[in-house]
Amino acid sequence: MNIVQDLRDLGFLRVEVLDGASCGIQETRLILCFFGYEADIPCPEERDAVIHAYYPASQTAYRLARTYVQHCREAGLDIRQANEIHIKSILNRLAFLRRGRNTLAYLPEQGSRFHVQILAANAEIPVTAEPEAEEHPADCGSCTRCRQFCPGGAIQENGFVRERCLRYWMMNGKMPPEDLAFRMGNRLIGCDACENCCPMNPPATGRACVVPLKTLLQEYDDTCLADKIGHNYALPNRVLTQACLIAGNMNRQDMLPDLKRLEQESGSEAVRQAAHAALRRLNEDADKYII
Ligand code: SF4
Ligand code: SF4
Repeated sequence: MNIVQDLRDLGFLRVEVLDGASCGIQETRLILCFFGYEADIPCPEERDAVIHAYYPASQTAYRLARTYVQHCREAGLDIRQANEIHIKSILNRLAFLRRGRNTLAYLPEQGSRFHVQILAANAEIPVTAEPEAEEHPADCGSCTRCRQFCPGGAIQENGFVRERCLRYWMMNGKMPPEDLAFRMGNRLIGCDACENCCPMNPPATGRACVVPLKTLLQEYDDTCLADKIGHNYALPNRVLTQACLIAGNMNRQDMLPDLKRLEQESGSEAVRQAAHAALRRLNEDADKYII
């Protein structure tokens, strides 16, 4: 069984095997499976909800890895998906990756447009890469473009401020501070500003995945998105909070009745707060929400 070749044949663009002890895990090997994707051309005028290309790609990669791991286990190999392992500090110690001021890792052939599936195995698979002792610094030279383009102001001279990153708030299930909520634009999940502006990335060429706001606010069933982006990202309260903010940001007056209903009836505090913020935003353009 040639695990590296098998995973490449499945569609992973790069597979690296690391010694487990040097990565601080119990298993003998950590296997990093890099899955590339095509970035989407930004569409800030789109009035429905936009999904960043990373998330469907990560779901595809997850499924490929899951199927392969099952196959390996049936063949007697002690291997598992280990996506709970935080690999940022490991990536920052790998010489073949560059590091951006925006905290992202960059592959020379793919820029930051990749997802990593993480496998842990107890098997003497040949090691292909060795982490350096220390994390290397950002490779950005004098460039500060992502700092200028970040809508939240998360990339600051002295480092990265997680609480100013839009993605942080999209994931944590809470209502973001209002100034950040208004800067979400039409993003349902993911923010591309610090990647799209980056000279270390190839130009975006894909078409964004767009979900109608009506589907989200009127008849959301998480199974419809779970298949595309994974169950955790498709959780109803997270999606509905973000969808409410998009309705306000994109001046969707046609969503007023749905926002009003969610503001009053949702069982989630974050959704109620997001609906309230969106209604206030829409009311800057329309007198009270009388339909
Ligand atoms: S993901 Fe968006 S908000 Fe977060 S650092 Fe990058 S540009 Fe800023
Ligand atoms: S935009 Fe410039 S500063 Fe930001 S990660 Fe890319 S190269 Fe580095």
